[in-house]
Amino acid sequence: MIVVLAGGVGGSRFVDGLVRVVPPERVTVIANTGDDDEFHGLYVSPDPDIITYALAGEVDEARGWGYRGDTFRWLESIRRFGHETWFRIGDRDLATHLHRTRLLREGRTLAEATADIARAFGVRARILPMSNDRVRTRVVTDGGVLSFQEYLVRDRAAPAVTGVRFEGAEAAKPAPGVLEVIARAEAILIAPSNPIGSIGPILAIPGVRRAIADAKAPVAAVSPIIAGRQLQPPALEMMRGLRLEPTAAGVAFLYADLLQVFVMDEQDSDLVPKVEGMKIRPVLTDTLMASPAKRAALAATVLDAAAVKY
Ligand code: GDP
Ligand code: CA
Repeated sequence: MIVVLAGGVGGSRFVDGLVRVVPPERVTVIANTGDDDEFHGLYVSPDPDIITYALAGEVDEARGWGYRGDTFRWLESIRRFGHETWFRIGDRDLATHLHRTRLLREGRTLAEATADIARAFGVRARILPMSNDRVRTRVVTDGGVLSFQEYLVRDRAAPAVTGVRFEGAEAAKPAPGVLEVIARAEAILIAPSNPIGSIGPILAIPGVRRAIADAKAPVAAVSPIIAGRQLQPPALEMMRGLRLEPTAAGVAFLYADLLQVFVMDEQDSDLVPKVEGMKIRPVLTDTLMASPAKRAALAATVLDAAAVKY
């Protein structure tokens, strides 16, 4: 089993590449649920949903989230009643949140709801939320303590970040299966996701970081930062706010205790000595996942670097 730690947009693009190279049944994704939230009484789980839509071939490629060609008529309609509509939920997307909320009200766990949704979309890879328990990323900024979605979507990552907290993480348990798949994995891959906002919450669940460090499998990560640039906020804003080097080397530093291999863009060859200095083997390649073929090529490079047969 190949285990992938993933957030939303970058995470889903990478997993999509992976299932083009290995059978999807061989892939288990551990997805961030730190930016889950409630809107209009509905439980929204953005990262698992982006992964599900991407693997089902339904994701809006340009945005990287939501359904392809979705409309927003219900959202425009609900504005009439004075509700806030800065968090965009499309008409088709709405059905997913209605269904998940209903399952949770009926007493099903988040992991069960996530699996049920993935099954309905015909997704054959396994998608596990990091935890069934409530963990909420809070971004401490000069504009106050914000939920992740308030910070990113409402305020467009404009407030200066001074800290990040994963509320509830200390008391949370890994979802059933998470520690088991890590222990038995043939490779553990950290997707090119926001290292603080997406991978940070997963590693903050007690036992997860330890399990990865103790696993026999090789651990490899892919940098979401290319030549000091990101494809979308807010990884760099968060890294700068936490006084981390806002480069691929800064990402490697955050995972230094876990990694054998760090895959970074060929534009970042100047960072090779820094990564080697962390006792991590750097691998340079084109990491821009601009097409299905490029995503698959990146996944193949990562598997080769981790010495996984496929
Ligand atoms: P979120 O949950 O939607 O924020 O998504 P993730 O945390 O999974 O991914 C966000 C990160 O993905 C950003 O830092 C982007 O720079 C990175 N990303 C998106 N597309 C690509 C790509 O094609 N290549 C690489 N290397 N990183 C990417
Ligand atoms: Ca996310």
